Amino acid sequence: MGALKGPIVAIVGRPNVGKSTLFNKLVGKRKAIVQNLPGITRDRNEALCHYRDRQFTLIDTGGLIPESKEEMASEVRRQSEIAIEQADLLLFLMDAREGVTPLDQSVHDLLRRSGKPVYYVINKTEGHGLDRLTEFYELGIAPLHPVSAEHNEGLSDLLDAVYPHMTPAEEEEEVVDLPKVVVLGRPNVGKSTLINTLLREERLVTSDVPGTTRDTIDSWVVHRDKRYLFIDTAGIRKRGKIEHGVEQYSIARTKEALERADIALLLIDGVEGITEQDSKIAGLIIEKGKGSAVLINKWDLAKKGEAAEARIVNQIDLRFRFINDLQYAYISAQKGEGLGHIFRLIDKAYEGYTKRISTGDLNRFFEKITESHPPPIYKGRRLRLYYITQAGVRPPTFVLFANAPTGVPDHYLRYIENQLREAFGFTGTPIRIRLRQRK
Ligand code: GDP
Ligand code: GDP
Repeated sequence: MGALKGPIVAIVGRPNVGKSTLFNKLVGKRKAIVQNLPGITRDRNEALCHYRDRQFTLIDTGGLIPESKEEMASEVRRQSEIAIEQADLLLFLMDAREGVTPLDQSVHDLLRRSGKPVYYVINKTEGHGLDRLTEFYELGIAPLHPVSAEHNEGLSDLLDAVYPHMTPAEEEEEVVDLPKVVVLGRPNVGKSTLINTLLREERLVTSDVPGTTRDTIDSWVVHRDKRYLFIDTAGIRKRGKIEHGVEQYSIARTKEALERADIALLLIDGVEGITEQDSKIAGLIIEKGKGSAVLINKWDLAKKGEAAEARIVNQIDLRFRFINDLQYAYISAQKGEGLGHIFRLIDKAYEGYTKRISTGDLNRFFEKITESHPPPIYKGRRLRLYYITQAGVRPPTFVLFANAPTGVPDHYLRYIENQLREAFGFTGTPIRIRLRQRK
């Protein structure tokens, strides 16, 4: 799951050298397939690129760069380190007009120590001879690849140089499968704390630079070599810096974020317990048909022990009664406790959310359950249920064919749902059963 195709090629360099311009040109020019599902095409910081008969995955590591010189230096280093860790080879971008700056030098040092292949790309060389490049040769690096990202110069030569590293292109392109996760909860429950903890503890690439082309507000988190897209994180993170208790994460915004998500993490306050508002958000998650997990936060503050657990579990049973196969974990966003559980629950929910049952298995299943518990009588006649088929995933959706769809009572549908869950496992995801009249 979430496997990236071909070698991972990362563009690194200090701000303003033209990283995102180069990224967009390489992606656009090579007719890249952005590895995202519909709905988040804005997110252009990772793309599968084809060149000639081969392919590679291009990532742009740009992120939020602070204004102050010192902070900028450490952030550039941090992002370079992330890129080095993730990439198979690196494109180190510098600016011909500015020459070698101390920040370039420090990125260069990091790259050299990494032992990974590095291509030295000198940007903004349009209209200049190679005389501009002598300063770069003094760094002791070679060969140099002069380009002008903006004017599409030198890009084919650069790709030719990288070509031997690329892997053969596959015929059929499938969309890379990765969970898109949204963190929800009422004000002060710990959303921004959780996001910030995840960003600190896990490897991450953010790309939320407001007012630039990279105006995405999502963050990638890599946990145990798996990728997760945490969506709408900027909105949540910024909240932490503003005053607390102000609900900026409105219902409309929640709905919008949910729309793009696969999995919702619903944070509840382990000390204060579950409120009406929590139930409302849970209702939205189910209404939108998303996978979910409940995270009982601030557990570091709770009086631990069986009584406390029983209390909160009772509340969950009561308030979230309408969520089938609900999964939950105790965490402390602040202390970074239980983070591993979070990813386990996301994986579980995503597995169910995208699960497809074969027609053969469904037929056998359906025969068995209708035999052991036949459909009821409707208008003096036994209801006839012909068969069931899975029409889709995200969430799993089944269509049940009957002679009289209106005659199938809710309790019988619940019975089928429970049996489906028991037989195939759909923890953490809603499933839908639609009725259709058989012609
Ligand atoms: P990054 O965000 O640091 O990767 O840099 P950007 O891609 O945002 O580019 C920084 C600035 O350099 C923008 O104003 C670009 O238009 C400009 N730029 C990018 N490539 C070139 C180039 O080849 N020539 C010139 N003259 N300007 C460029
Ligand atoms: P948000 O409004 O949902 O984004 O909530 P915040 O992340 O801003 O957290 C609200 C308050 O709860 C802050 O003072 C946090 O420090 C605190 N907090 C968040 N998570 C925990 C936790 O796990 N344990 C404790 N003790 N405090 C927490």
